[in-house]
Amino acid sequence: MELDRIAAKADRGERLTREDALALYHTPDLFALAELADAANQRRNGLRVTFNVNRHLNPTNLCVNHGSCRFCSFSAGLGDPEGYTMTREEILAAVADLEHTGATEVHVVGGLHPRKGYDWYLGIVRDLKAAHPRAHIKAWTAVEIDHFTRLTGRSAAAVLAELREAGLGSLPGGGAEIFAEDVRAELCGKKAFSDRWLEIHAAAHGLGIPSNATMLYGHIESLAHRVDHMARLRELQDRTGGFQAFVPLAYHPAHNPLPVSEPTTGLDDLRTLAVARLFLDNFRHLKTYWIMVGEKLSQVALHFGANDIDGTVVRERITHEAGATTPEHLPQEELVRLIRRAGRVPVERNTLYEELRTWV
Ligand code: SF4
Repeated sequence: MELDRIAAKADRGERLTREDALALYHTPDLFALAELADAANQRRNGLRVTFNVNRHLNPTNLCVNHGSCRFCSFSAGLGDPEGYTMTREEILAAVADLEHTGATEVHVVGGLHPRKGYDWYLGIVRDLKAAHPRAHIKAWTAVEIDHFTRLTGRSAAAVLAELREAGLGSLPGGGAEIFAEDVRAELCGKKAFSDRWLEIHAAAHGLGIPSNATMLYGHIESLAHRVDHMARLRELQDRTGGFQAFVPLAYHPAHNPLPVSEPTTGLDDLRTLAVARLFLDNFRHLKTYWIMVGEKLSQVALHFGANDIDGTVVRERITHEAGATTPEHLPQEELVRLIRRAGRVPVERNTLYEELRTWV
């Protein structure tokens, strides 16, 4: 039987092929798939499930690609009444109580502002670091870094080195969407291409800047496109080892022009996590993003290969603009409760996955 053959491979520590991953996607035996993924996770991470206490900051939603990224409900064009750009004071005020809330990270992403130069973005990192020297600044997707290289005419490595000097600790990993060029052309024709996304992450890894990797699924892509996406990430990880976590992002269809009427189902979300755990054998951490799939499904996902549950998060705007009905904030006690009730050990971590506190 196909699943037994793949299970035996996984047990022997043999790498799965793209065909294996597709077979896992199609297996009717969801619980056997869960068992395999859970075993693979426990071999690496035991029963520990990590989360971090963080704060999301989206300094602007104005974007030169507004209208061109057809899945994006967050962006606005110049003159749009929904458009906003935070001032330096507003940015600092939004995270003024960071240490007081126990947060150790600020997660910063936003639009490619049509008028702001690179110095504005650099200044945000510098200001945040000056105001919160102990916090980890996880900022800007590869799409934003690519934008900065166009604004400055400098290489990605040069821009990244300067951002690191200003206080950047890591890249969050967004903007990957789906790498397959034909899908990407339809999804977000103007946005940095797949090779460029991978090249920028490779440049970050080369400088010792770690990053995460995302995949936006559940829109116009096929299962083979998802596997292809993961295969390209696995290949880069073999070369650099710089990815910390893989974060599948379930597409939310509200308020955008992409002709997809339904959100992903819970089973698709769980299956995608399980396949990722088994196929991405060189990624230690697999995150379930509760903002997108909900707290309850994220709890179940801890038995489908996920070992990390996204942080407490405050003021998430991007997914909520696309129709997410999840809360914008989950208190730490609630995350701990969800993890414990899943039979796992909650561990608060920092951005670099160093453990800060364990609930035994
Ligand atoms: S996905 Fe990013 S680059 Fe594309 S329109 Fe939205 S904010 Fe702009």
